[in-house]
Amino acid sequence: MLVEAIRRVTQRDWTIMEICGGQTHAIMRFGLDQLLPPEVKLVHGPGCPVCVTPVGLIDQAVVLAMEHRVILCSFGDMMRVPGTQIDLNTARAYNADVRMVVSPLDSVKIASENPDREVVFFAVGFETTAPANAMAILAAQRQKLTNFTVLCAHVMVPPAIEAILSTPDCTIDGFLAAGHVCAVMGTDEYQPLVERFRVPIVVTGFEPVDILEGILMCVTQLESAHADLEIQYRRAVRSEGNPVAKAVLAEVFQIEDRQWRGMGQIVGSGLEIRPAFSAWDAKCKFSLGRPILQDVGPCIAGDILLGKRKPHQCGEFGKRCTPQTPLGAPMVSSEGACSAYYRYRPLFEGNKT
Ligand code: SF4
Repeated sequence: MLVEAIRRVTQRDWTIMEICGGQTHAIMRFGLDQLLPPEVKLVHGPGCPVCVTPVGLIDQAVVLAMEHRVILCSFGDMMRVPGTQIDLNTARAYNADVRMVVSPLDSVKIASENPDREVVFFAVGFETTAPANAMAILAAQRQKLTNFTVLCAHVMVPPAIEAILSTPDCTIDGFLAAGHVCAVMGTDEYQPLVERFRVPIVVTGFEPVDILEGILMCVTQLESAHADLEIQYRRAVRSEGNPVAKAVLAEVFQIEDRQWRGMGQIVGSGLEIRPAFSAWDAKCKFSLGRPILQDVGPCIAGDILLGKRKPHQCGEFGKRCTPQTPLGAPMVSSEGACSAYYRYRPLFEGNKT
C-alpha cells in the first residue's frame, strides 16, 4: 500500500538521503530501494558511527593499547577498523590488552576490578550512545575511580546534515533523519536546517514500513513544493526529546569541532568531555594532543558517506575489500553502507559471495 502510494504521488526525479546506517541496512536487506519508482533515488548518509571515526583516533587508541599498555575497551565493530598502520585486533595479536565490551559500564567494572591497571573506554557514536558513555563517566566519578578514562569520539547528526547541504555540488532533495537520535535529542535542531536550506526532513524509524512511510512523507512534500520537518517515528520521538538524557549529556560533554572520516572538519559536530571531568578524559590523562588526521589508502569512504558514490562504485568493493579483509570502516561496521551492499546485494560486480 505504501509502495503504491509512493508510486502514485511521484511525478519527478528526487534524491533522498537516509542518514542512519541502520536504515541503510534495512533498505538493502528488504530491497526497499527496488520497490520504489525509478524517479526516487535513495543515497546513504554518514550515520554509521564507526565509519565516521577518523583514522587519527583509531591510531590514538592503538597507541594507548600498545605504548601506554592500558586495558583498551570498545565495542566489537571498532576492533577491525583500519588505522594508519594496524587495527585494534592486530594490536591484540601483538599482546596488547584490548577487550570487547557491550556496554561502557563494563569498562567501569573492569577498572574497579583492576585497580593497578589503567582502563580506557574508546567511546564512539552519535547522540544515541553518548548518554550511556556520560553515565559511565559519572559512575567512575561516584566510585572515585582514578584508573578509568574515556577516549571520546562522539559526533552529532545536525551539523553533518548542514555540512552535506553546504557542499556546492549537493544533490540531496530530502532527508530521512534517524529516529533514535531524535528520541534522545528531540527535533528542535532540525527546524533551522529545514528553513535555511528549504529541504524536507522526515524523522523516520527503522522497520521497513517506517522507512517506506518516511519516503512517502518526504516525496509528498517535494511534489507539493513544501519543506517541513515531520515526524514519522511518532511512537518514540517527541519534539523535546528525552530531557533526562539531554541533561546528562550537557553535564558531562561540551560541543566542539570534530573531524569526520572522509568529510573533514565539521564545526560544532563533536562532543568532548568537559574540563570538570578531565580526570576521566584519556586525551588529558595521556597527553594525546590532537590526533594526526589523515585518510589513507584507496578507500573512498568520504564519497560513500556524502552520498556521492555507492559502495559498488568503489574499485575495491568485493575485490580487495570484503568484510573479512576490510580496507575501510564502511565495510567493517554492522551499520556501514559497504557491508550492507556486500551482504544483501551479492550480484553486484566484484562481490563474489
Ligand atoms: S568498498 Fe571498502 S575501500 Fe571501498 S569505500 Fe567501501 S570500505 Fe572503502
